[in-house]
Amino acid sequence: MTVQAIKPEEYFIENEPYYEPIGDELSVFEAAYKNQLPILLKGPTGCGKTRFMEHMAWRLKRPLITGSCHDDLTASDLVGRYLITGGETVWVDGPLARAVRNGAICYLDEIVEAGPEFCMAISYNPGYQSVLKDLKQSTRQRFVALEFDYPSAALEAKIVMNETGIDAAQAEQLVKFAHMTRNLKGSGLEEGASTRLLVHAAKLMTDGVSPVVACRTCIAEALTDDAEMLVAVHELSASVF
Ligand code: ADP
Repeated sequence: MTVQAIKPEEYFIENEPYYEPIGDELSVFEAAYKNQLPILLKGPTGCGKTRFMEHMAWRLKRPLITGSCHDDLTASDLVGRYLITGGETVWVDGPLARAVRNGAICYLDEIVEAGPEFCMAISYNPGYQSVLKDLKQSTRQRFVALEFDYPSAALEAKIVMNETGIDAAQAEQLVKFAHMTRNLKGSGLEEGASTRLLVHAAKLMTDGVSPVVACRTCIAEALTDDAEMLVAVHELSASVF
């Protein structure tokens, strides 16, 4: 049997990932890492959890190994499994084993102890039914929890500008529109526009797509399939731009 090896250097992040802190998450994460405590990131999708992890891995100079979690996730998806290739049995590490072996930060997106450099972080959206939402207290209470949410309006506009090069006025309009959609959460929309969706729309706008079209294709259609809701969201964007 052979074990498939990875090159840890491929998992180091060379350039500083741009991240605007929204609170004391940098220092809390650093302290949790130093004390070898696993970390739980809570917050809606697209609000910066993954970017934060990339930034922290760069800051702590550790490789970052990411795994995506889904409802039918099994232990071997995380740990690894035997595969038969060319008549030979090969053990292929899953993200967890890979991170343990390489003293890496293991980030399990939307889920779910080893050497002193290994670090485990998991994220989830409390608004959704997910594997993590039903975590037993005995598991939950092992984590240092950091709560994430959309940035303040001024900070979110700054992020959208920095990520896309869009001008301040348009960034502010996008954020205003996002707030309108977030207010619809619970009354027709499952979730409002995330920072990620604003970044997508701003990218199209800087490439010459009209704001209303960018809002429809990047934001409204991503949020819902409901025809009436689409008309309502479309009217909101038309009122802003
Ligand atoms: P999540 O992991 O919470 O679903 P991401 O980390 O992928 O979300 O964030 C989506 C996008 O939003 C990022 O790619 C980035 O462009 C932007 N973003 C969100 N929050 C921040 C932040 N605080 N600083 C910099 N960029 C951010």
